[in-house]
Amino acid sequence: MAEHGLSIKKTQLQSKYDVIIIGAGIGGLVSGAFLAKSGKKTLVVEQHNIPGGYCTSFKRKGYVFDSAVHHIGGCSKHSIVGRCMKELGIELEFFGLDPMDSLVFPSFSIDIPADIDSYKSSLQQRYPAEKENISRFFDELIKLYRAIINESENSPTLERHRGHTYGAMLDSFFDDPELKTVLAGQWGYLGSPAREISSTGMCQMLVNYLRDGAFYPKGGTQNFANAFARSLRDSGGDLLLSSRVEEIFLKDNRVTGVRLDSGKEISAEYVVSNIDARQTFFDLIKEEVDRTYLDRMRGMKVSPSYFLLYLGLDPALDLSDFRRGFYHSPNDQWKYISAPTKVDKSLAPKGGQEITVVATIEEKYDDIEDWKDLKDRHTKGTIRYLEDFVPNLSKHIEVIEAATPRTLERYTLNSKGAAYGWAVTLEQSGPGRPGNKTPVDNLYLAGHWTNPGPGVCAVVSSGWRVANMILRNER
Ligand SMILES: Cc1cc2nc3c(=O)[nH]c(=O)nc-3n(C[C@H](O)[C@H](O)[C@H](O)COP(=O)(O)OP(=O)(O)OC[C@H]3O[C@@H](n4cnc5c(N)ncnc54)[C@H](O)[C@@H]3O)c2cc1C
Repeated sequence: MAEHGLSIKKTQLQSKYDVIIIGAGIGGLVSGAFLAKSGKKTLVVEQHNIPGGYCTSFKRKGYVFDSAVHHIGGCSKHSIVGRCMKELGIELEFFGLDPMDSLVFPSFSIDIPADIDSYKSSLQQRYPAEKENISRFFDELIKLYRAIINESENSPTLERHRGHTYGAMLDSFFDDPELKTVLAGQWGYLGSPAREISSTGMCQMLVNYLRDGAFYPKGGTQNFANAFARSLRDSGGDLLLSSRVEEIFLKDNRVTGVRLDSGKEISAEYVVSNIDARQTFFDLIKEEVDRTYLDRMRGMKVSPSYFLLYLGLDPALDLSDFRRGFYHSPNDQWKYISAPTKVDKSLAPKGGQEITVVATIEEKYDDIEDWKDLKDRHTKGTIRYLEDFVPNLSKHIEVIEAATPRTLERYTLNSKGAAYGWAVTLEQSGPGRPGNKTPVDNLYLAGHWTNPGPGVCAVVSSGWRVANMILRNER
């Protein structure tokens, strides 16, 4: 899925930049695009041969598969991603997804419409005894979202929920256990169940999705990443692919530049790290850094990783009744199953179809010795599971690919294939997550290891925020 002309050659590298960004995940690309547009001499360095991090696609036998991200929130023109693209002059076609998701539980299923009012009404019809509470809950969710986005520190709504889990928030509104299960049914997007996740983290994700639905970039998620990479390049910024940053240099607690795996040293006024925060502070920086900050980071919990299955299927398989969304099993296990070709037929050759799965795994990364065995077992088990919903599926498979936490780690260097950076628990959200500004002067963090948190919409916001912080600092 490489697009020619995005990367400069190593020989074109300059010896000094205003800003070097490590990692061409969406957070890094957005930061880079804004800084380059504002006239900063900007370099983005990426170890993979394509930009996008988790927002990339790959091709097998003519089928285009999205590596990880399956849809994006906040892309309408008034929401964060839409506004960001408008500012950068990026034009990209999206398919709007409606319903945005389905929730499939062992004993019932429910569709989530791509509009918060329709969702509210459908829940009120299904749970009439909770009608008033549902109204109050959605009003509160919107108020809380506004308080978070406007950073209204003194907001009583924020005060009521900050420091509480999303589970506690649901308990304070509802009695019906099934309704609470439904309203928590998308927790997989942040990787921690309702009893652990912060109400503010869940609120941001839900409102971003529920307000105007979810969006799929035409042609695959790689097109989304490429659009930001092209914007960076069009504004005069440099993107260097297939190069890894191996050291960040500091002098008197201030960044001075980086060393690449080729040995080349490049100086910079600012460095933005869009990579695993632990890699940044424990591997790339050799000098002494604020000990309290590092000790806190050492004690932090990393988000889970997943098993992924990608199937290319022949045109004869009937997927007309298939529902995209979270399929829940007991013990906090779920699979997110989608059929991207039902949204965008151009992803497969000659009427072909696709099913992709993101699945929780019970095995712990450090306990896994035989990764091939893990991949084979989960591939077979997931296909068996899918056949309950799509009979005879295995007779129609033309392409099978699978990925494990180790695959995700290899392609993005997120440690243990962490899907969302730090785990989104109560303790590690908002002020509990390392901020965009670090204790090292002129070193900033953008992406899902910092605020506001994981998901494409959130990392767009973090990349944009960091660009503004640097520009403000300069002024
Ligand atoms: C399976 C899965 C499904 C997901 N589904 C969705 C979804 O549907 N919607 C959604 O919004 N979010 C989803 N997410 C979450 C979302 O993908 C991430 O939160 C987000 O993309 C992270 O972006 P980032 O900017 O932090 O960078 P990353 O995507 O983590 O990219 C970091 C980049 O830095 C590069 N890098 C690392 N170290 C170095 C180095 N030393 N030198 C140079 N380059 C380096 C890596 O190669 C990588 O390209 C999903 C995540 C996973 C794993």
